[in-house]
This record gives sequence, structure tokens and C-alpha cells, in this order.
Amino acid sequence: MSGMLDRPLILTPDGLRLVAVHQKVVETIEGWVERGSRSREAGGILIGSHRGDHVEVTDCTVPMRRDARTRTLFDRVDGGHQDAAIRAWRSSGGTDTYVGEWHTHPEAHPSPSLLDRWTWGRIMRRSREPLVFAIGGWDSCWWGLGVDARVRAMRMLSSGSDGAGRCLGAI
Ligand SMILES: [Zn+2]
Repeated sequence: MSGMLDRPLILTPDGLRLVAVHQKVVETIEGWVERGSRSREAGGILIGSHRGDHVEVTDCTVPMRRDARTRTLFDRVDGGHQDAAIRAWRSSGGTDTYVGEWHTHPEAHPSPSLLDRWTWGRIMRRSREPLVFAIGGWDSCWWGLGVDARVRAMRMLSSGSDGAGRCLGAI
């Protein structure tokens, strides 16, 4: 079942640091991408573990009741996301924790908005660890790694699925 590193998506910003994203997380992000004039953005936090310079993303939260969702904005307001991170920390004995953020955009090939960059900058100031940032789109996903207050786009080294998924580390 879950918990196995079953053909993860492998990403890197520089060929040195590696980010492994479990298929379940990729599929969840893909599943929340909406189309159409009444579409709303979705999002949540990424949960996983830091392993030296590397990050393993094993789980994520999905939109909750109090989150703000519009066509062009997802604001993670609901305290349930943080609760999920705390639960993961406790149940894993202190290895699994918050490792980043994801949200969707109503566009084919998403890239970070100025607001995204600004929001991520604020988040990174509160973390000493590298953080993963993902944006799901209709035809591809954007993945970045935030290190030392800078988010760098990542490229894919190995896809988790057989190419069927959209979130295969755009670029
Ligand atoms: Zn955005």
C-alpha cells in the first residue's frame, strides 16, 4: 500500500539535490486541476522527509473547508493543513514533516506568479530546510526547490509513471 517508494517522480534543480515525489502525491495534484470558466484553484501542503540535501515527498493535504479558493487564487487558511503535518510528525516518530506547498493554476503549462514568489519567500524565511513548491496545470506541472531564500525550477530525472501523468516535472 502507501509508504513504499513505488517508482517516484525524481526531480532536481541542479543535478546534485534530488527530490523524490511519490505517485500518490502526483496523482492527487493532477486530480485537483480544474478547467472551465468556473474553475477554482486548489492546493495544500506537501508532507515528507528531509534526507540531507534531498527531499522525499510522500503525502499531501487537499483543500479544506476554510481555505480561500477563487479562479486565480488559493489561500491556505484552514488550520487542518498544519494539523496534518503535526500528525505526520507524531505518527512517524519525528521524521515526516512539512516539506512544501502545492497549488493549481487554470493554465496548460503553469509557472509561478509574482504572488506565488512573494508567498514562497515568506514561507522560506521560516524554514531552514529546502522546501518543494509545485503548481499543477492542465498539461504539465511546475516543480521548484527553495533553498537559501531562492526557488529554482526543477527538471525531471525519472518519471514516476509510464508517462501517463501530466505532472512530470515540466521544462
Ligand atoms: Zn500560483
